[in-house]
Amino acid sequence: MSCTHLDTIRPVTPSAAGCEDCLQIGSRWVHLRLCLACGHVGCCDSSPNKHASKHSHTTGHPLVRSFEPGENWIWCYVDQVEMEPA
Ligand SMILES: [Zn+2]
Ligand SMILES: [Zn+2]
Ligand SMILES: [Zn+2]
Repeated sequence: MSCTHLDTIRPVTPSAAGCEDCLQIGSRWVHLRLCLACGHVGCCDSSPNKHASKHSHTTGHPLVRSFEPGENWIWCYVDQVEMEPA
């Protein structure tokens, strides 16, 4: 495993049921990502606004988990690597 950010994972509570930034501006998203450092819910890079990626870059929070039902993979924006949780 090439990601060194696993110690940034916190027990988080999702901030919203959808992308909280899209909800504020009335936009749409394709898929949702959950920040594992603070619980921010943002939209994926296939979405028009890419809020999960923007959140990672502005806050430095490296890891997100898929917030889609049935998916639990983790993505690191710094290392650009996908992981399966243990
Ligand atoms: Zn990493
Ligand atoms: Zn969004
Ligand atoms: Zn965050």
